[in-house]
Amino acid sequence: MLPGPYYIYKCPNCDNLLRKSSLMSGNTLGLQIFSDGKNIRPMLPEFPDLTKCKKCNTIFQLSKLKHIGTYEWWDDKTKSRWKNADQVDFLDIEDYFRVLNEGFAKDIKEVFIRKQIWWAYNDRIRYCSKTEDNVTPFVDANDEIRWRENCNKLIPLLSLYDLDERIMIAELKRNLGDFEDCIYIIEQIWDYELNWLKDIFINECKKGNRWVVQLK
Ligand SMILES: [Zn+2]
Repeated sequence: MLPGPYYIYKCPNCDNLLRKSSLMSGNTLGLQIFSDGKNIRPMLPEFPDLTKCKKCNTIFQLSKLKHIGTYEWWDDKTKSRWKNADQVDFLDIEDYFRVLNEGFAKDIKEVFIRKQIWWAYNDRIRYCSKTEDNVTPFVDANDEIRWRENCNKLIPLLSLYDLDERIMIAELKRNLGDFEDCIYIIEQIWDYELNWLKDIFINECKKGNRWVVQLK
C-alpha cells in the first residue's frame, strides 16, 4: 500500500483547514465481505467525501469544494498550518441523521445515507470483540426505535430486481427478525453459484441470529 498526497480543503462555513489522505496504490489483501454488503479492504482504504468540520460541525461534500493545495507525506518543507489541519473523517450515526433531518448535501440520495446509517449500526456488531449471544447494536430503546425506522424506510428504496439490493433487503428483514421473509426473498435467487450465500442466510435465520455475519 502506497500513500498518495494529502489534499488541503477549507471549511465552507468557517475557513478551518481540513486534510484528506489519498492512496497511490493498494490491493485487496485481507478483504472481508459481510452479509450486509459492506466490504472491508485493509490494504485499500477509502477516504470520505461527505464529512464535517470539526470546528463548526458543518456537514459538506469535499467533491463540491476545490482543494486549496496538496503536499506529499515525505515533504518536510510543507507549511505546518497544513500539516496540523484536521484529518477528515467519515460521519457518525448522529451526523447521518442530521443530513436527513437538516437537509445537508442535497445531491446525495436518501438511499445512500440510510445505508450508511444501517452499516454504522452493524459496525457496532462487526467490530465488537464480545461473543455473547445478547450483543445488540443499540445503546437504549430510543436508539432501537430510530434504527428500526431507518431499516423500514431503507427497504422500499432498494429493488428486488437488483441482485445486490435483493440480498440487502433479505438481510434487513433478517436484522428486523423477519426470518420468514428473509428466507423467502433469498430463496428466489436462482443463480446456483450463490448457493453458498443462500445457505449462510438460511442457516442464520434457522439459528435465530438477526445480526450481521462475515461471509468470506
Ligand atoms: Zn467549519
